[in-house]
Amino acid sequence: LTRLYGPLTALSNVRVDVMSALVSFDRVFEVLDLRPGIEEKPGAAAIPHGAGRLEFRDVHFRYPSADEVSLATLEDVSALDRTENAPVLRGVDFTVEPGQMVALVGPSGAGKSTTSMLVSRVYDATEGSVLVGGVDVRDATLDSLRDTIGVVTQDSHLFHETIAENLRYARPGATDEQMWEALRGAQVADLVRSLPDGLDTVVGERGYRFSGGEKQRIAIARLLLKQPSIVILDEATAHLDSESEAAVQRALAAALTGRTALVIAHRLSTVREADLILVLDDGRIVERGRHPDLVAAGGLYAELYRTQFADSTPLTPDVEPVILP
Ligand code: ATP
Repeated sequence: LTRLYGPLTALSNVRVDVMSALVSFDRVFEVLDLRPGIEEKPGAAAIPHGAGRLEFRDVHFRYPSADEVSLATLEDVSALDRTENAPVLRGVDFTVEPGQMVALVGPSGAGKSTTSMLVSRVYDATEGSVLVGGVDVRDATLDSLRDTIGVVTQDSHLFHETIAENLRYARPGATDEQMWEALRGAQVADLVRSLPDGLDTVVGERGYRFSGGEKQRIAIARLLLKQPSIVILDEATAHLDSESEAAVQRALAAALTGRTALVIAHRLSTVREADLILVLDDGRIVERGRHPDLVAAGGLYAELYRTQFADSTPLTPDVEPVILP
């Protein structure tokens, strides 16, 4: 990891264009689970090993404007357009108890991805706090935060290195047997075994090119190797064929068992199973509860249920048909 963090940290200190640097870091943090370049506070506290509680306390957030990000590099600050970005989260407050699965749903732009990014400190809350195992993420040691949280997004990134090297980002020093076990759990062992160089196969643009679903399963194998107690998952599966999607679902079921999960949910099966569904709209939680209750309430969730979930059928199972005379 030092090999990777060294150059990235150096790069993050070049503040020429921090916003565009963030864009490329976005992809890297998917592998490392935290954004490289964030700094640890002096006297930071370790999150207790295996901590599973995740809390948002009255969290407000607006994205930093380009001006704010590059302010430090400019001499003439007065010339700046100081327009602020609009608030994106406005008082988000919830708790995920250890082992629970909480689903975040809401219309496009509601703030679901932003919420998930505050846990892994891609950004920090503007007001309020995010706590993992009772420790504010801004006061936590980076090692303990990195160990506790695992992130799986729609676009999992693989480095142009061997499969084994890609997996060892999750657990440096993992043995071949441990890697095979994780690959089996992630439903991708047969594929890797069929490649001529097995674990030593080089992947990426100039190497073996995994499909979207295969890359996602490699990301899940990383998660299984790392064993984080809290998983942040963006579940979008729209670009996968149905066979690949079924394999990803099986792999995810293995990865989430016994862990706390915050899932940006796109599947009906996920919201039905969730211990709690949070419905976000324009940066606020407008409804919360379990699936049948929220459907019965007939609000925004009921509407999303009809229109948004990838595997949803028309609204019938929970509602008796009304037969007009
Ligand atoms: P989707 O389902 O479409 O992914 P979402 O609920 O995940 O949407 P977010 O991606 O969290 O929503 O976006 C919330 C709001 O923040 C949107 O209005 C979006 O335009 C804005 N936003 C997202 N990223 C940035 C950024 N880097 N700078 C400024 N505004 C941003």
